[in-house]
Amino acid sequence: MSHAEIMKIEKLLKRYRVDEGKQFRLRDYDPADTHGLKSELKPQARDLLAHGVAELSRLQDILAAQDRWGLLLILQAMDAAGKDGTIKHVMSGVNPQGVQVSSFKAPSAEELDHGYLWRCMKSAPARGHIGIFNRSYYEEVLVVRVHPELLEKQKLPKSLVTKHVWQERFEDINAFERYLTRNGIAVLKIFLHVSKKEQKRRFMERLDHTDKNWKFSAADVTERQYWDAYQEAYNDMIRHTANVHSPWYVVPADNKWFTRLVVAAAVVHALERMNLKYPRLDGEQKAELGKARQQLENE
Ligand code: ATP
Ligand code: MG
Repeated sequence: MSHAEIMKIEKLLKRYRVDEGKQFRLRDYDPADTHGLKSELKPQARDLLAHGVAELSRLQDILAAQDRWGLLLILQAMDAAGKDGTIKHVMSGVNPQGVQVSSFKAPSAEELDHGYLWRCMKSAPARGHIGIFNRSYYEEVLVVRVHPELLEKQKLPKSLVTKHVWQERFEDINAFERYLTRNGIAVLKIFLHVSKKEQKRRFMERLDHTDKNWKFSAADVTERQYWDAYQEAYNDMIRHTANVHSPWYVVPADNKWFTRLVVAAAVVHALERMNLKYPRLDGEQKAELGKARQQLENE
């Protein structure tokens, strides 16, 4: 990629990256934003995405070879914002051996017998790997906050559940992510920001097209009634958990072609920050290679 292109992508990413949450306001972000890229430029966007995917594949190879760094990519969004499609497209070029996708749904009885981070810790990526969380422990300050009855089912000792519970969860999440980043596992958080109008359009599409009927869930329509409460919860979540070590990206999600471009660029950016290098052999190891070569030649 040329220097000019890299600068352009840098600028694009900066617009959506939140690495200091205090002043954050979700309403400053437009779900339909395309950074001035017109949809007529879709073919070019496709080229850029293909480029991003190729770059990601190249970096992943070094990530695995070096075996020092890891990457945790967290995706959060309202229903039909496009988490699944984004994962599919952005990760299309990577070696499947180096990526694990974990989806987090309502917790099981066993999971509820543990602290809420437990199930996510077990799925956190190893060095050399990319871990993708399709939903995550952030649901604990989103769906659980919007539906307080879920908190009651969590079997927490009563005396520990006070009005500070959300603030405490933010603190624990920040501490957990700091711990990961201090261990070389970078944390990248993506909020796919879709508008209420576009969500409706996509639900309708699921009703209208036979091939998409399977995606439709009446529960999603019920959940839509809590739209404002969710937006408020997302706003507060980002305010309290966006920082330089593990930034949030608020990615406009009304146009899928643009969403994918930004997410691919954000993942590439996170890997680039690791300054990845293939391992270099020391003198002794090189001598070993020399010996092996000789052995093969003498066969
Ligand atoms: P898709 O619909 O594309 O298959 P999804 O992620 O929406 O993917 P669902 O099975 O529809 O999957 O929904 C999972 C549900 O589990 C979501 O409504 C989410 O809010 C809920 N969930 C996830 N984590 C928790 C949690 N810790 N506590 C309660 N509910 C949770
Ligand atoms: Mg769903």
